[in-house]
Amino acid sequence: MENFLGTTEKTLKQYFVEWGVAPYRVHQVFTWVYHKEVRDFDLMTNLSKPLRQKLQATFYFSLPGLQEKFSSSDGSVKYLFSLEDGSTIESVWMPSDDRKTLCISTQVGCRLACSFCMTATLGLKRNLTAGEIIGQILKVNEDLGENDRITNVVVMGMGEPLDNYQPLVDALRLMVSPEGMRISNRKITLSTSGLVDKIKDFQEENIHVNLAISLNATLDEVRDQIMPINKKYPIHVLLDALRNYPLKPNRKFTFEYVMLAGINDTDDDAKRLGRLLKGIPSKINLIPFNRIEPGDYHPPSESRLLSFQNYLISRNYSVFIRKNRGTDILGACGQLAAQSSS
Ligand code: SAH
Repeated sequence: MENFLGTTEKTLKQYFVEWGVAPYRVHQVFTWVYHKEVRDFDLMTNLSKPLRQKLQATFYFSLPGLQEKFSSSDGSVKYLFSLEDGSTIESVWMPSDDRKTLCISTQVGCRLACSFCMTATLGLKRNLTAGEIIGQILKVNEDLGENDRITNVVVMGMGEPLDNYQPLVDALRLMVSPEGMRISNRKITLSTSGLVDKIKDFQEENIHVNLAISLNATLDEVRDQIMPINKKYPIHVLLDALRNYPLKPNRKFTFEYVMLAGINDTDDDAKRLGRLLKGIPSKINLIPFNRIEPGDYHPPSESRLLSFQNYLISRNYSVFIRKNRGTDILGACGQLAAQSSS
């Protein structure tokens, strides 16, 4: 038996060919499941009885289990989900005036070992399936009222999305498909530490979601230290790949830059960052380091942060300071699951 949630249209089509069922019926099944939110084949009245029985014998419906839910004073809600094998992952729902954004996970843990990141302390436990990736969105929508339905998705939770490539691509297709979840590709952002070969593969998929790159340093010796993946794909290799990426008109890359006091937050860093991104359609998000527990890193002072931001604004970049959300509920990437598994 397979989880229907996460099964691609292509896979279902293959079953239907095998069963001698007309391929257009794939759309009917998807419409029931994703548009009408029906999770019982027996209720799909425009399908023949034998087809319903075949579907029932092949697929089941499973969503992540809601283990715990934490509400922050800033309005965000953090979900701790338990999966079929008992693994736990987290998603964070963040409301703002005009949007409700869900941050979703793609792996249990992560193997990239970034020195400032809590998820890294878990190591990689396993990849999520496509069903577990989209299941976070479906489950949160089920839990919240109609007015709080998710409008935007950021793939920035636990794990490195491009390190779990095929399930991620299947999940993204289900999210953007008109027969699936119908989320506009402009409202989905995929965040990566910069796996250059996978970025090149991804441009062939024809899935035009926004890309965010966790740059986090302007010198290779610094990035090598805080993001070991930089030894494989140094800064200029990563930026060259982005220069050659077929970005759609009016789209920009988002560069995420976690600010670590005394490590990557000087005016020289700001100047180098301005030079490095020259010619790349960019938006920059400065993220003050979210301190988890006593450790070597600290967030920058407010004045340092503003000086860094102002310099880049003077060079005509769009630069935003991303306020940490849900710090009172361990809102940063991997904090909750890391705590619950220790
Ligand atoms: N692996 C992907 C997505 C998960 S990390 C990536 O690297 O982009 C999502 C973002 O959170 C990254 O930009 C990362 O640099 C940032 N991040 C991780 N730990 C953080 C912390 N303690 N404080 C602030 N930002 C953090």
